[in-house]
Amino acid sequence: MLKPIICQIALPIPLRRLFDYQLPLHLAPNSLISLVGRRVRVSFGSKREMIGLIYSTTNNTAHDLTKIKPIIELLDTQPLLSSNLWDLLHWASLYYQHPFGDVLQQALPSALRKGKEATFKMQEYWHLLSSDLNISEVKRAKKQYQALLLLKQNPLSTTHLKAQGITRNTLNILQEKGFIECIAKQPEYNLNWSKNLQESEDKPQLSTEQAVAITAVNQQNKEFNCFLLEGITGSGKTEVYLNILTPILKMGKQVLIIVPEIGLTPQIIQRFQARFNLPIYLKHSGLNSRQQLDTWCHAKQGSAAIIIGTRSAIFSDIKNLGLIILDEEHDASFKQQDGFRYHARDFAIKRAHMENIPIILGSATPALETLHNALQGKYQHLHLTQRAGLAKPPTSSLINLAGLPLQSGLSPQLIELMRRHLQKNNQVILFLNRRGFSPVLMCHECGWLVKCTRCDAFYTYHKKANYLHCHHCASTLPIPQQCYDCGSTQLITNGVGTEQLEQTLKSIFPDDPVIRIDRDNTRKKESFDEYLNDIHQGKYKILIGTQMLAKGHHFPNVTLVALIDVDGALFCNDFRASERLAQLFTQVAGRAGRAEKKGQVVLQTHHPEHILLQELVNSGYTQFSRNALRERKLAQLPPYQFQALLRAESENATLAENFLTLCRQILIKICLEHNITEKMLLLGPIPAPMERKAGRYRFQLLLQSTYRTLITQTLQRAIDIFSKSPEGRKVKWSIDVDPIDFT
Ligand code: ADP
Ligand code: ZN
Ligand code: ZN
Repeated sequence: MLKPIICQIALPIPLRRLFDYQLPLHLAPNSLISLVGRRVRVSFGSKREMIGLIYSTTNNTAHDLTKIKPIIELLDTQPLLSSNLWDLLHWASLYYQHPFGDVLQQALPSALRKGKEATFKMQEYWHLLSSDLNISEVKRAKKQYQALLLLKQNPLSTTHLKAQGITRNTLNILQEKGFIECIAKQPEYNLNWSKNLQESEDKPQLSTEQAVAITAVNQQNKEFNCFLLEGITGSGKTEVYLNILTPILKMGKQVLIIVPEIGLTPQIIQRFQARFNLPIYLKHSGLNSRQQLDTWCHAKQGSAAIIIGTRSAIFSDIKNLGLIILDEEHDASFKQQDGFRYHARDFAIKRAHMENIPIILGSATPALETLHNALQGKYQHLHLTQRAGLAKPPTSSLINLAGLPLQSGLSPQLIELMRRHLQKNNQVILFLNRRGFSPVLMCHECGWLVKCTRCDAFYTYHKKANYLHCHHCASTLPIPQQCYDCGSTQLITNGVGTEQLEQTLKSIFPDDPVIRIDRDNTRKKESFDEYLNDIHQGKYKILIGTQMLAKGHHFPNVTLVALIDVDGALFCNDFRASERLAQLFTQVAGRAGRAEKKGQVVLQTHHPEHILLQELVNSGYTQFSRNALRERKLAQLPPYQFQALLRAESENATLAENFLTLCRQILIKICLEHNITEKMLLLGPIPAPMERKAGRYRFQLLLQSTYRTLITQTLQRAIDIFSKSPEGRKVKWSIDVDPIDFT
């Protein structure tokens, strides 16, 4: 007698286990194509249905079949993902200690997660039911007649017919009369794009450094190699990418390009589109789920020559992948900070290795991890030290704020400098990474500060919106009329945010239009695109921006860039703070003088003598980063050590701390058993830098070792014990492998 097949299903839930279901005989496929990797619909719990993927199967079972629920539906006729990608995701699940079902979930476009068919959007095609119809019957109905004449030559899509002025209604009538019929067909897609590949003639003469970098890659572009392209801002990295692409595309291989944020830098896509007459598809959160699925299908079928996307695009299933480019590789947005805490750069390198293809990491300010690998010779290090074309690097200097009268944080020197640049009809960028009008509201009489009741943080005052807003938990509060402590009505602001800066600048420079680019002001994507366009047109002279403005923009008329206040980062106890500040400074500075006009960068500070600032202003990121690596080595920190961070949070502080104390004991025991106590450092549990957030107390326990595999193995041994402990069930906890953010 045939036995039902038992399938172990990976379900999209954060539990580290698989679930058994039986495949009813009537669903069992005849073909021998493996069941593994196909999607199924199953019931979970009493009411819910879920889509999962078959992880493995068996029909040799001692299970009591009456206790195993049946699979409701088998959704695919073949495995959904290529075996390469499947293996990679499996590796990621083990490395990042995240349940495989949830990893799969994150790797799939949402339409597939919901059980949609893994195909393109079907298009309606119309065709004549018979070739010897007497179409003159409808001659008096002009549109119907026109439609039949068109369809007599070829079947045509609804979209095509609409463009000819033929409505759906007309088509329906003809269908009722028995003249035509509608069939659903896949849209046409082009698998032979590489045969007609053409490059636009409009490209610059390469610099020697660019040519050297391109040759280095092109000579080794058929197998795994990791290249770090370290090129100063404006040195023409994108031009290098474009040239590296050409031979790969000519071989008919697809290219995957990962960027930090597409919405912020539409320019990069335009440059690829302008260069090649090829099908380019995008993958980012601004697309609807149908568009994302179409991109996925094009990548998988091979009809997408180039796929450009943000972080999660690294999970695209690509038929014939020939190259991965990861631009701005230092960007923190490549690391997912919740759930499946992967790093898109590290996953990309692993992927390139597994698929045996080259990968290029590009940045003006490489992450110290990446730089370390390049300096050690693990990656090939390519350099662009000169700005492209006629552009020259900007000059940098500090303004000592000590004792100066400030207007909303602006020193008289800076105002004077702005005036000089604006008089020459140039644009100015002011960088301030703080939204809102003011970071705190304070009682002028007793010094009381309005603090969020749910976080260890102050409310930010938003003047225009007229409320207080906590940037950590998103709670809001109406503006208090009186001090809660002494009852005084004299509440004043303390500190400057972008909203205030905007207001002040409008009064200092009434004739120079000011634009503020921050999240409050650009919620709608259209408004952001519009602003960018207006900036390019020269409609605005003064640009105020947060981090959003630091990324990759190319504004040829910007000649002055000023950092208003970054002193907070100088005394931050996160060991990555200086690296981040150096990257930010260099990237922001990189917006100045990108064309023929020379650029100038100034940084206001109360600590002009600070060694980090001196280093940045006098010798730049290259020098800073090499020194910073030496310091990391001395301090025994990443990239010389590997880390994993266990976090726990709860409304009850003791519960969170107790759980981590237990984890520590478990880890110590495992280390003893495997004789690695000396090679593993455990720090904590300690409260997180922001101990209370959104009403929960947060604690951390850090694992550190010189050996990456020891961390992986130890966690793998421990994680089941963590999961099963009653203490673990009472708190929210997570593991962050290679953490980059300790807040
Ligand atoms: P990066 O990505 O390194 O900041 P881009 O690739 O955006 O730099 O290049 C900066 C500007 O220089 C762009 O306008 C680009 O078209 C131009 N450019 C790049 N390479 C050259 C070159 N070899 N000659 C002239 N202009 C160039
Ligand atoms: Zn008071
Ligand atoms: Zn809060």
